[in-house]
Amino acid sequence: MSNSDLLQRSLAAVWHPCTQMKQHATAGEALPLVPIARGQGVWLFDFDGRRYLDGISSWWVNLFGHCHPQINAALRAQLDELEHVLLAGFTHRPVVELSERLIGLTDGSLGHCFYASDGASATEIALKMSFHAWHNRGRRDKQEFLCLSGSYHGETVGALAVTDVPLFKDAYAPLIRPASTVATPDARLASDGETPVDVARRAAAALATHLERHHEEIAALIVEPLVQCASGMAMYDPEYLRLARELCDRYEVHLICDEIAVGCGRTGTFFAHEQAGIRPDFLCLSKGISGGYLPLSIVLTTDGVYDAFYDDRTSRGFLHSHSYTGNALACRAALATLDIFAEQQVIAANLPLAERLATCLGPLAAHPNVRHLRQRGMIAAFDVLCDDPRFAQRFYRQALANEILLRPIGNTVYFMPPYVISAEECEFLAAGAIAALDAALPT
Ligand SMILES: *Cc1c(COP(=O)(O)O)cnc(C)c1O
Repeated sequence: MSNSDLLQRSLAAVWHPCTQMKQHATAGEALPLVPIARGQGVWLFDFDGRRYLDGISSWWVNLFGHCHPQINAALRAQLDELEHVLLAGFTHRPVVELSERLIGLTDGSLGHCFYASDGASATEIALKMSFHAWHNRGRRDKQEFLCLSGSYHGETVGALAVTDVPLFKDAYAPLIRPASTVATPDARLASDGETPVDVARRAAAALATHLERHHEEIAALIVEPLVQCASGMAMYDPEYLRLARELCDRYEVHLICDEIAVGCGRTGTFFAHEQAGIRPDFLCLSKGISGGYLPLSIVLTTDGVYDAFYDDRTSRGFLHSHSYTGNALACRAALATLDIFAEQQVIAANLPLAERLATCLGPLAAHPNVRHLRQRGMIAAFDVLCDDPRFAQRFYRQALANEILLRPIGNTVYFMPPYVISAEECEFLAAGAIAALDAALPT
């Protein structure tokens, strides 16, 4: 097997996600499709012996590197016991243990776990549950949702309603029942003399105004705590979450924390919302929860929401399901992931690692084309001053040539490495990114 053989066959048979396929085919400027033969730690290897440092954790899912021996062993053991069983009317050890441990991580404030297979489904479940819970409680007017500008909560038709990324949404506008959008607390919006806390308070004031007028119709506010990842790593102060929690309580609106990307230690605490000292009514998890191994998503919610469905009438139940709900292998991968967090005290160990990343990227702050160098835990990002609409693609290609996988979002270059990256690999990543930046900028 060679790179070029697999590349040609893939282009003929596989329709790749988030891709204009013609960009892979056009001669000359063609974007390289990279066939991966195997992975080890932070490294991916192609069929021709080239390697790439996975600086974005394979779309933010990988936590402890590729082919982690402990997760591999857990999956092998699970394979010999049970691969999958339906979760309606049946249960199994991995799903029970995982639920108990996740509930424990919320100190019991979110007492019930509902399962699906991907992030967008978790969003859909949280929206449906919120609406249905209010409905069951006699609050029939609560049919609307609220999201932040620049939000991303997935790309199924329902999830697009609360996603504010025009590139993903506009083509499907006629299919979507859009939510209302309120101001983002993105700290980059600070005017002269404003702190990130000031921006958070200003955005919360806009939220207060909206809720005051419309709370009777609003079921839930959905947010990505601390970092709006997909729209370009917009980071904001925890003050916004504290104020949003207060407002949601005052106006009887559910707060949904979508921690699909920022959960599992990414921002420096196991859950990002912990940094605001709050708890949501719904918590969506996916991506890293299975260590980046298998599709799995979970919606945790409160006893109060659960009780709104608990009834003699079937129709008052939550009748949502997916075929692979609570898959035993995926739950086992998640349990192995949580074991690693506990045994290796990953949250504490990531503190010096995040500092190391900051030190390595520090020189970028002085680069004439770099703005808003920012970081929250194991996510770092900067914006690039450049008018060329092909910047992201040019940077991506240059980075691959430097043996690193980085995939800018527009003019935002970001880093979200696996937590097993070494000091030397951090330096390699930063040096490769700086070189790629200079090569990608027009001369
Ligand atoms: C990735 C992501 C989703 C969607 O998850 P999928 O598994 O890709 O459907 C939803 N919300 C956030 C915040 C995400 O980052």
